Amino acid sequence: MTTARILSGSPPAAALRRQTAAAAALLRDRGIGLTLATLLVGDEAAASVYRAQIERALQGVGIGHLPVTLPAATDEVRLVRVIEALNLDQGVTGVLVMLPLPNHLPTSLIQEHLSPLKDVDGITPENAGRLHLGLPALRPSTPQGGIELLDYYGIQLSGRLAVVVGRSSVVGRPLAMLLSLRDATVTLCHRRTPDLAALTRQADLVASAAGQAGLIRGEMVKSGAVVLDFGVDVVDGKVLGDVDVATVAAVAAAYTPTPGGTGPVTAQVLARNTVAAAFAALGGGYEELGRQTNPRSPRRLAPEG
Ligand code: ADP
Repeated sequence: MTTARILSGSPPAAALRRQTAAAAALLRDRGIGLTLATLLVGDEAAASVYRAQIERALQGVGIGHLPVTLPAATDEVRLVRVIEALNLDQGVTGVLVMLPLPNHLPTSLIQEHLSPLKDVDGITPENAGRLHLGLPALRPSTPQGGIELLDYYGIQLSGRLAVVVGRSSVVGRPLAMLLSLRDATVTLCHRRTPDLAALTRQADLVASAAGQAGLIRGEMVKSGAVVLDFGVDVVDGKVLGDVDVATVAAVAAAYTPTPGGTGPVTAQVLARNTVAAAFAALGGGYEELGRQTNPRSPRRLAPEG
């Protein structure tokens, strides 16, 4: 039995935290405060876990948090009004809408109405389009964090076969695009994929963002593959990932634990995106983001020690 390497999110998150805290302090010295608003409609267990994690990350880098919670019964008109108020609020640097929204509220409301320059999770057509074209953008923090975690540990992406499980617009699909921009060959799977295991077994990199605890089992993973887990599945009050660690650890070369893997890096990328949004607002456009998000010159975080 091999011993898989555990790719902890803590060291890359700590490196990001130092960089973001320094940038936030620079802005503060110039009288520019930073605040991220998180908008939660209703009360979803996984969203609350994520929000608490974001709050801790923001505190650690000196960014304010404005939690906005609306009742589950909020209607479309009210939601759009709240979004527009946040767009105009000069005290709010960035806005993260916690998804999924309750069933009666289409995600498109947020995509259509949120200001692209405050869109710290890259969900608006402007940012999603720019990401797909490889242009500077505010990128979805979860998949961007996943790529930076792999970079931190020196895991090669170019020329590798990657299978992404889950095609949501905030995780799976943008991850597939980011991997493709880094010269991986990508297969994007979802609920209607007929034989998921047959595909994952070929992959050098398996990334799961399906929201199904224990979906990825050892027999679905090639020996020596790297497994990236984005799942945040609350089961009986416990946070689990999509990866069945007991069986995957026996065959994979490396995997991210849950919690403590992709999550901490996601929260730090979100904090950095908030700083980036402030720079973009100051400069009046996306060029300010170019240096830090250009896929052709990926920012590599030097491993510590
Ligand atoms: P997230 O926001 O974490 O990406 P979503 O619930 O929005 O999660 O999307 C879940 C994605 O995972 C969907 O694309 C869905 O098709 C995919 N998915 C869910 N369960 C399975 C499964 N058993 N096999 C393959 N794909 C799955």
